[in-house]
Amino acid sequence: MEGATRAPVINRPAHNRLVPGSSPGGPTKFFAMVNDNGEKILRDQVLLLVKMQEVDLRRSQQQVEERSLPEKLQIAEQALQKKKEEFSKLQAKSAEKDRGRREQELELKVQEEQVVKLRDRLIKLKTNEEYKANLKEIENAKVRKGELEESLLISMEEGDLLKKEISDRALSIQEAEQQFQVEKGKIEEALSTLSVTARSLESEWISLSEMVDQNILDDYKKLLIQRKGLAVVPLHGNTCGGCNFSLPPQLIALVKTCEKILTCTYCHRILYTPVKTG
Ligand SMILES: [Zn+2]
Repeated sequence: MEGATRAPVINRPAHNRLVPGSSPGGPTKFFAMVNDNGEKILRDQVLLLVKMQEVDLRRSQQQVEERSLPEKLQIAEQALQKKKEEFSKLQAKSAEKDRGRREQELELKVQEEQVVKLRDRLIKLKTNEEYKANLKEIENAKVRKGELEESLLISMEEGDLLKKEISDRALSIQEAEQQFQVEKGKIEEALSTLSVTARSLESEWISLSEMVDQNILDDYKKLLIQRKGLAVVPLHGNTCGGCNFSLPPQLIALVKTCEKILTCTYCHRILYTPVKTG
């Protein structure tokens, strides 16, 4: 990479494990920005990067939220859909029960007519055997009629229970539908707020980036991806605020002078001394 199209503004630690004899004692060569007010400008540049990093962090948090919201809506919609499907199944079951009940009613009617017919036939019969056989038939027809009446009663009770369940569920679906619409409205509102905030963060990012040297900006963007959103870190005493490793004293001293943009020997993040407030 080094010495390709341009010299990197951000120093790479001189210690390179691939180069025999390379010292882990700390970076020994830097790309210095040549400027009369070099120190001040570099300090500002790093602080601009810190601000950009905050904006980038907020942007990535926003993106996570932006992705999660439609998923939330989809889950709520699927739950409602499932309830509706169960309700349809219940309605179909009830319709089937009604059909069965009507068939039983018809069958019962036929059986009742059969009993009447057999009774009417009694007076026309000549022999005692025929009479006895007819009485037996009447008896059987009555038993069958009784059985039909009983199962019809059970069917009617079951049908009533199903209808009660359907009316209860219809109410609960109505409530779930209303809840879903409220939830949907909230999510849509949150998404629109997010998109407004995203636009304002975007313009904040752009105006910050316009103040940063292009090479520094390019290195920052690369580092931000490589270091998962943390490219610029403060010194915490003698340790790196990114990886928490102790840094060589000469590197700490150099970071404090703000003469160059320096990176951690271990995680390669850009180092800066925290701003003292007050
Ligand atoms: Zn580090």
